[in-house]
Amino acid sequence: MDMVCSKSLDCNGLLNVEGALVARDKVGIQDFVLLDETTETAFMENLRKRFDKDLIYTYIGALVVSVNPYKDLDIYNSNQMDLYMGVNFFELPPHIFALADTVYHAMMLELNNHFILISGESGAGKTEASKRILQYYAACSPETDLLTAVRDKMLMSNPVLEAFGNAKTLKNDNSSRFGKYMDIQFNSEGEALGGHILNYLLEKSRVVHQNHGERNFHIFYQLVEGGEEDLLHQLGLQRDSLYYNYLTQGECAIMPSINDKNDWKTVKNALKVIEVSESDRRDLFGVVASVLHLGNVEFDPDSRGNASLDNNTELRWVSTLLGVNAQTLQEGLTYRTIRAQQDQVLSPFTIDHAIYVRDALAKAMYGRTFTWLVRQINGSMENKDDTMKMVIGLLDIYGFEVFYVNSFEQFCINYCNEKLQQLFIQLTLQSEQEEYEAEGVEWEAVQFFNNKIICDLVEERHRGIISILDEECLRPGDATDLTFLERLEEKMGDHPHFVTHRLADITTRKTLDRGDFRLLHYAGEVTYCVVGFLDKNNDLLYKNIKDLMGQSKNAIVREVFSSADADSCRRPETVATQFKSSLLKLTDSLLAKDAWYVRCLKSNESKKPGVLDEALVRHQVKYLGLMEHLRVRRAGFAYRRRYEVFLQRYKALCPATWPHWLGLPMDGVQVLVQHLGYMPYEYKMGRTKIFIRHPKTLYATEDAFER
Ligand code: ATP
Ligand code: MG
Repeated sequence: MDMVCSKSLDCNGLLNVEGALVARDKVGIQDFVLLDETTETAFMENLRKRFDKDLIYTYIGALVVSVNPYKDLDIYNSNQMDLYMGVNFFELPPHIFALADTVYHAMMLELNNHFILISGESGAGKTEASKRILQYYAACSPETDLLTAVRDKMLMSNPVLEAFGNAKTLKNDNSSRFGKYMDIQFNSEGEALGGHILNYLLEKSRVVHQNHGERNFHIFYQLVEGGEEDLLHQLGLQRDSLYYNYLTQGECAIMPSINDKNDWKTVKNALKVIEVSESDRRDLFGVVASVLHLGNVEFDPDSRGNASLDNNTELRWVSTLLGVNAQTLQEGLTYRTIRAQQDQVLSPFTIDHAIYVRDALAKAMYGRTFTWLVRQINGSMENKDDTMKMVIGLLDIYGFEVFYVNSFEQFCINYCNEKLQQLFIQLTLQSEQEEYEAEGVEWEAVQFFNNKIICDLVEERHRGIISILDEECLRPGDATDLTFLERLEEKMGDHPHFVTHRLADITTRKTLDRGDFRLLHYAGEVTYCVVGFLDKNNDLLYKNIKDLMGQSKNAIVREVFSSADADSCRRPETVATQFKSSLLKLTDSLLAKDAWYVRCLKSNESKKPGVLDEALVRHQVKYLGLMEHLRVRRAGFAYRRRYEVFLQRYKALCPATWPHWLGLPMDGVQVLVQHLGYMPYEYKMGRTKIFIRHPKTLYATEDAFER
């Protein structure tokens, strides 16, 4: 028997049968497709068996299932990377590196674009997975000056974006509060020449408000806790997170699990690597500090109870750091000037309204600066070479989340997760079907829940929740969050995935408060509180404040307020509509690429190492559609393999094909399987591949092979 035969199977071949057979009892099965039964119980048992042995990755065909171990495993070092480089997918134990490597080789072979969809709920390990993949591609890259520089920028974009875009939530100490899609661009030699990031809807409301047990974005604490003495002095900051209103609402500013001081050093260094100049860095920290000062601006009542500010130190710091006139800023925060014909009328703010305007400014400044930062990173990672580009896209977006109180932000995040689930359903079922069709093989349909109905409920033109929200936002007069809810109840009242106050008891047997509505998402039910929906969707800032910021001496602030509002006579699109359009664009661009999947599972709610909460994981397995995916892989044919490859592997088993088959590979395979005694129902001959219905058939062949 030659050496090729004793090695494992090809990348189309979907498994290393020998390895799987030997190992199956000890460490579970490496590919769920090989399970004897496709029941949830068998699935869970296999998952647990592997998890208990710190084997966090398992395949379903080419899909990687990953379970968050909540502890550092020594499986991502450079030896491991070397091990997986250029090795066929099923030759080694399942690993995220194996997927990264396979995608890379598929791209090089087919010279086309690919993307890896990483999904799972908040805290399941998406961001970690995406970092591992990026790390792997960086390590593949040859060591030339140019490539090393690009590689470093790509890697260093992570700590910067995480500092500004991630925060501690109740679900995850490092939760992504923005969506990120990153293209890694390769030339035809397979060298990573550049990268490009698209960012999606940052959860700006966190800048001014955090729920109990949650923090603001990491960068604020990093600066205050880790910033050098003279920097803090220049920025007028105290070294005390507890001093700042915007940092303390969650009552967990200081977290033992987060090392803000060290992270500050990493971020400062990373900013240099991504070529943020010294003056831009100064301006950037100026923005961060201004936000903190703004949060401490408190208004006093004047004689009529309206908001007033008298010689406010914090306000002076904001005006100094942003280089804007203090008097004008103070006016902008305390009253509006309304022009009535020739006259100007001053309309003073109540204290609540002044706080609202102050917070709106803080959010706008931070949100726009975040987008500036992404632009900056893109500029530094830009591929200056015009040669042919192929990309591998990495999608890492905020995961599905349910809190005690869910607001507009959760509505957007969960809608986004519905869209990604829809994409997964479309692509997996569609591509499976297409392959059978292209190969001329009949297939049996598998029942699955199609969440398109929920996507439509949210996004359908003129009828979906977003349209109704927009209508209320645009309606002059008395529109409020509650009138929005009434509209929803009128129009959606009988939708199977929408529950109103009136129907709550009947549908889900859980009551709803008057200001709530409930959506039955693919991943579970979520009750949304409508308070703030209109405001957050409108996201308006008074023109005088925008104009003032457009004249700021802080170059970043000036840039982000002048460019974004150049077309200020037109009413900007609402936040939800912009988000919807950006997701549609993303989906279109992904549909033009070859898809690969990582499905991340959260092992337990309390972030404990090595604990697998059976019910929690089972629920995720269900809603992520993993069982359906598995059944689809098996209902048709668990294995498919190109004729040439199959023949090469097993030709030694038949005298007619050994050592050489001179005819067409397809005919050779036909002779071979007849010789092996395959029954007609066990396999199908496609146009280019043999399809084998059950893995057992292949086991038997492997056994014959061993003998
Ligand atoms: P979100 O949707 O909130 O952004 P996420 O899916 O991106 O969540 P991560 O931030 O990737 O979740 O993971 C949460 C935490 O779980 C990490 O900070 C890390 O502590 C731990 N973790 C995740 N994956 C791994 C892993 N492969 N090995 C060790 N720890 C992990
Ligand atoms: Mg994340």
